[in-house]
Amino acid sequence: MSEGADDLFVRPGLGRPAPQAGFPAHGMIPQVAYELVHDELMLDGVSRMNLATFCTTWVDDQARRLMTECMDKNLVDKDEYPQTAELERRSVQMIADLWHAPDPSTTRGTSTIGSSEAAMLGGLAARTRWRARGGTGRPNFVCGPVQVCWEKFARYFDVEIRQIPLRDERLTLHPGDLAQVCDERTIMVVSTFGQTYTGLFEDVAGISTALDDLENARDLDIPIHVDAASGGFLAPFTAPDLVWDFRLPRVKSINASGHKTGLAPLGCGWAMWRDRKDLPDELIFDVDYLGDSMATFNLNFSRPGGQAITQYYDFIRLGRVGYFKVQSAVYRVARHLAAGLHGIEGFELLHDGDPRRGIAAVCWRLTGDRVFNLYDLSDRLRSRGWLIAAYPLPADRNDETIMRAVIRHGFTIDMADLLLADIVRCTRQLQRRLFSTPLTREEAGGFTHSATPATPTATPPT
Ligand SMILES: *Cc1c(COP(=O)(O)O)cnc(C)c1O
Repeated sequence: MSEGADDLFVRPGLGRPAPQAGFPAHGMIPQVAYELVHDELMLDGVSRMNLATFCTTWVDDQARRLMTECMDKNLVDKDEYPQTAELERRSVQMIADLWHAPDPSTTRGTSTIGSSEAAMLGGLAARTRWRARGGTGRPNFVCGPVQVCWEKFARYFDVEIRQIPLRDERLTLHPGDLAQVCDERTIMVVSTFGQTYTGLFEDVAGISTALDDLENARDLDIPIHVDAASGGFLAPFTAPDLVWDFRLPRVKSINASGHKTGLAPLGCGWAMWRDRKDLPDELIFDVDYLGDSMATFNLNFSRPGGQAITQYYDFIRLGRVGYFKVQSAVYRVARHLAAGLHGIEGFELLHDGDPRRGIAAVCWRLTGDRVFNLYDLSDRLRSRGWLIAAYPLPADRNDETIMRAVIRHGFTIDMADLLLADIVRCTRQLQRRLFSTPLTREEAGGFTHSATPATPTATPPT
């Protein structure tokens, strides 16, 4: 070989577009296919600068190694990979302990592909229990603003969703609103512990008390399912005296995303029941396990084993003390960002990252008369690589646009400061550009190839 004929980029395949439509007739060597795929993915956003996601975007080297080593293990094959099953079982017991199940050694729980699958399972168990108690007709469940998985549950499993609208400055489900919407067909109240919109915790204890009152007044015994997708692995460490879990007898099931604040890689969720009897037998399938059988209750059959294994690794690596330190550090960054935003004129915080009020996120809106909105700001921030969504609050407050930044493991004070500087700069740019004032070079991004001044890009007013 000579004259670069062995260079990757002169190989056949890299001189033409990637196959796109129709099943490709011929293949290409792995290096070429890899480069094509790898390079296309450079157009994706940088996940660690994506503050719209709740999901894990930083994992350590050991977790990566375990994920690679377990790539070929199917979690459903309990008999073939009994030790994988054992690590999942131990994780279930650890989570049951963390969430104060009355008897963590016998309670039922399972890993899932995420909170959505876990939510479906929690909802199905509630529906089956309700029917077993003699419930007839079309069942319903009651909730405040919820993540889309609950609308999915309602539609896929034909259960009516009774969503209590937001009112005024009340941004979570209010316990006082429950009595008027619950009836004998209500299979559960879903309380979100870590709202998707604002990051705020709902008052699960208050909801439980309101349902106690309802039982006393009208003999309706309605269980609670807590959607703790993002709060389930925060509050136990950073607000341990906040009562939201199985300490409340009315809480029969809880879901959480291991791949959010549980710190596991993507594809890990957990569904847990308070007591064995809260998961009806109809939902259980037995599979072979070391000459015996093991109960499974999942929507999927085959699933990757690495996520649950790596979650177990996270639990034993960090322990309670480690999770406390990691999550406290994450909250510290959130509060730092909140303090910075609070100092910018016209930014009003709805959630400032207080660990007793919500998850490690900051949520804000703009006040006063402005020539731009949060969609403009989100768009502007994208030019620096930041992915921060702006969206309306749910009904009946959808007149209000908000922005939310979720802070996660691996996001530093330094990154928060860079983000704050960009928010200040983008806000100024928007303010001026809309009045047709040219940007200064510094405002236009600060980076230049030469020493000559940048040409103004906007036309001055005439
Ligand atoms: C993220 C989230 C879900 C969905 O969880 P996945 O793990 O993405 O399936 C459900 N509920 C809440 C409150 C969430 O934040």
